[in-house]
Amino acid sequence: MKYTIQPATTTTAALLEGLSVDASELKAVWFAYPMAMFVTPDHFGDELEVTATELSVFAQTDCMAHGLLDVCEELRTATDCTCTFGHEGGYQVVTILGDVCAKKGKAGDIALLRDLCPTMKVQALCGEGRALAGAVLQALDLFGPEIEAHITKKSCPSGGCPAFQTYHILVSKCTGCGKCLKACEDGAIMGKARFVHVIDQRKCIQCDLCRQACPEGAVMRAGAKKPKTPPRPIPCKRKK
Ligand code: SF4
Ligand code: SF4
Repeated sequence: MKYTIQPATTTTAALLEGLSVDASELKAVWFAYPMAMFVTPDHFGDELEVTATELSVFAQTDCMAHGLLDVCEELRTATDCTCTFGHEGGYQVVTILGDVCAKKGKAGDIALLRDLCPTMKVQALCGEGRALAGAVLQALDLFGPEIEAHITKKSCPSGGCPAFQTYHILVSKCTGCGKCLKACEDGAIMGKARFVHVIDQRKCIQCDLCRQACPEGAVMRAGAKKPKTPPRPIPCKRKK
């Protein structure tokens, strides 16, 4: 979530208090360009020369790979600079981070970012390009394991990335009406009348049609924490 702020000498904690944001729920605060920096809770009390007019907050449930992608996209589109390191480098960074968040990250992506960004930070002609490279390096230092898990473990630890979310049908709510099965165009749902339906994760493409079709709110999208569901359809406990 974004907030407008005024330039001042202050602390992140004081700014958050002024904005009525509960600092204990946060993973990080991002100060927009020209500051272009993340501040983590252990530094919320540090005095800062605030020159940005906007900050974004990231909750514990927010994904920092996605957060970094958003920040980089914003910095990249904020400049008309066409220099090789600012423009092309920014494009490379955003493409890599986009792939990481879309479950298409490759071994070597983090090393590539660590290789590209120090040069970009020095060689980019525009301030936004240098800031983008600095943001990537800072995020890798602060949130490296969380970002790398998208590639090495094919998981989003915070559960915030849509591409890593999975769909499940809750035994406690399903009445076996079959509407989700009819809605699924990928044959990813198993079930029959009066049986709790089950989603085959290998076939599911996370299109959300089943969740929209279910009149009982029995289909849920799950991030890092998955509900317990049966491997095959079982008789419904719940009556219609
Ligand atoms: S999310 Fe889409 S593909 Fe997956 S089970 Fe539901 S309808 Fe089928
Ligand atoms: S998940 Fe919803 S739509 Fe699908 S069978 Fe159960 S109650 Fe019906």
